[in-house]
Amino acid sequence: MSNITGLHHVTAIAGPAQENLDFYAGILGMQLVKKSVNQDDPSTYHLFYADGEGHAGSDLTFFPWAHMRRGRDGTGLTNEVSLAVPAGSLAYWNERLTKHDVKIGTQVMRFGERALPFTDVHGLALALVETSDAREFTPWGGSPVPIEHQIRGLHTVRISERNRSHTEQLLEMGMGFKVLAEENGWKRYALGDGGSGRILDVEELPSVARGAWGTGRVHHVAWRVDDDAAELAARTQLHEVGTQTTEVIDRIWFKSVYFSEPGGALFELATVGPGFEIDESADALGTQLILPPWLEPARAEIEKGLPVLAAPAVEAEVK
Ligand code: ZN
Repeated sequence: MSNITGLHHVTAIAGPAQENLDFYAGILGMQLVKKSVNQDDPSTYHLFYADGEGHAGSDLTFFPWAHMRRGRDGTGLTNEVSLAVPAGSLAYWNERLTKHDVKIGTQVMRFGERALPFTDVHGLALALVETSDAREFTPWGGSPVPIEHQIRGLHTVRISERNRSHTEQLLEMGMGFKVLAEENGWKRYALGDGGSGRILDVEELPSVARGAWGTGRVHHVAWRVDDDAAELAARTQLHEVGTQTTEVIDRIWFKSVYFSEPGGALFELATVGPGFEIDESADALGTQLILPPWLEPARAEIEKGLPVLAAPAVEAEVK
């Protein structure tokens, strides 16, 4: 029995923060549940988009580094993030994304699920996947997207590797994944019984060079553990298969442990709690700049260094 129970969040690198906000809150209709700064680089925002309550597993977060070079596709990276939408809603999304000039790909079937690949405003590869799997989800009342079509959370991530067997060993022995299925070169791994938010797809591309971080690329993928004890047990299990990790780091809303999988992609363990309501009330999530306590003394200086963010333009007529 694994201590890891599913996806917790995915963090990616974006371009200018306002464009990021306009895309994720304005076009995709996800709620900005936390507006903070990168704890290692407080001159950069850290923006968190999720469902109406910021459930672990619904959360896509960004470091908007406006001047970073673009990332490069390749192996050792998480190359696509897919988001769960209710069965039957891709027609709505196709129309909405097209209307907002979003670059969309061809609708495809993946492991029996209908998927619509598209690219965000800064080049991040995403896909919307229709699913009827049960998920924890609270609608966001302020979303420009009707509740029946709103994004339910993270569905899966897709990783490319030069040598899948090394990664597979960590996934199975160190993290508790099982192989679920194989299709078109992709192997699907699952935690527990699988289902939306508990799956990972890996392809092997032996002759493709290592990709590079940059704008429009995933920074890391965080996996959910229920509590502190489960996190420590999961960390011990990683050590037992020879994977080095960081100590537990307090991220205020969750506690984190970081490690790299053998191919090079950065992973994290993150606890479900305490959650985003520890420092903002449920009805005020994402409305103010929240700093960790040790950065509060520098608030005035930090605020001066961050671009002012306006509310995204919301198109009421698409409701
Ligand atoms: Zn993280």
